[in-house]
Amino acid sequence: MTGAFSGGCQCGAVRYRAMARPASPHLCFCRMCQKAVGNYFAALASVSNGDLVLTRGEPSWFNSSDLVRRGFCSRCGTPLFYQEVGGSHVALLLGTLDDPTAVPPEWQSDIYAKPGWFAGLDTLPESAGDGTPVDETGRYAAIANTNHQHPDHDTETWPPRNSR
Ligand SMILES: [Zn+2]
Ligand SMILES: [Zn+2]
Repeated sequence: MTGAFSGGCQCGAVRYRAMARPASPHLCFCRMCQKAVGNYFAALASVSNGDLVLTRGEPSWFNSSDLVRRGFCSRCGTPLFYQEVGGSHVALLLGTLDDPTAVPPEWQSDIYAKPGWFAGLDTLPESAGDGTPVDETGRYAAIANTNHQHPDHDTETWPPRNSR
């Protein structure tokens, strides 16, 4: 059964299920989160340790300081978790949820490292990248036909038996 808050890494080697709604969803702009996720912010929300169930595999952990460790898939590199060392809660990287829209952010932290142009991002020129627009080169189809990304739901076995 797929829970409301299941998720995992890109390759599917690490899968999890949050048994409670992730709390205090926010964007963290701190320089450590920027590095850890390779982006301008990390989208985070936390559950108690007991409410996080690993349904496949185990993350690897990197201690970004003596106070904080960050969980990621050692096979594909996807950042998955943020946890204060010895803490009672673990934060999920919200983009790894099977439904990444399910827990919208409610606040922002560590805006000292927020780029000055951030507020203008939504005014940038847009190009639909969801595979449905005109694709003159066949590139989207080629990507779809050779997709190694785990689907956005739990699977019995992964990778599929008939895959290469
Ligand atoms: Zn992975
Ligand atoms: Zn941060």
